[in-house]
Amino acid sequence: MIRAVTLDVAGTLIVPFPSVGAVYAEVANAFGFDADAAQLEKEFPAAFAQVRSQWAMPYGINDEDARRFWFSVIDVTFGQPLPYEIGCELYDTFSTARRWRVLPQVRAALTAITAAKLPMAVVSNFDARLFPLLDELQLGPFVSIITSASVGRAKPDPAALLAACEAMDVAPTNVLHLGDSTREDGEMCAATGTLWLRCTAEGIPLAELTAILRATP
Ligand SMILES: [Mg+2]
Repeated sequence: MIRAVTLDVAGTLIVPFPSVGAVYAEVANAFGFDADAAQLEKEFPAAFAQVRSQWAMPYGINDEDARRFWFSVIDVTFGQPLPYEIGCELYDTFSTARRWRVLPQVRAALTAITAAKLPMAVVSNFDARLFPLLDELQLGPFVSIITSASVGRAKPDPAALLAACEAMDVAPTNVLHLGDSTREDGEMCAATGTLWLRCTAEGIPLAELTAILRATP
């Protein structure tokens, strides 16, 4: 029986706007670089995957390490170490709502979950930037927001999910988790017996969510 809902953030609720490459280029160019948005957008996925695979704890073991993680992703994306100020600006700017787009169906989904009287919590491979960001985007209401940096473990490790379950006083087997990543969200749910609703670039599959909520007494 579903008693609570947890949600991933990036790729599930929101995506970078207009794109990672465009934001990287805009900020770097403001500092006098000659950066190309399309080129950076092309380089980013491999750079991100490379740094994530090499980092001791992907996304950072705490908020300081998260900063270093993203500085490294930025440097590899640009193919050169960037001045510290640019790294800071790029890191900080993604804590603001204007750099993200809320996916379709998301606000309707949150309303439906709230109407079903199920508590919601965020379980995200993210860091301290998530708190001001979700606040500014006016997404919620969340009982708790658990980031990988705050628990020192990244999904698919279930640490963040278990912390969210504790905050909502539910067992992981009574939780529905919404997330877009097979590896991070899917594997975590498989390990904890949590029901996983897979989300896509189209946003949260509202019909499937509604069916699950309707089956909840
Ligand atoms: Mg995601």
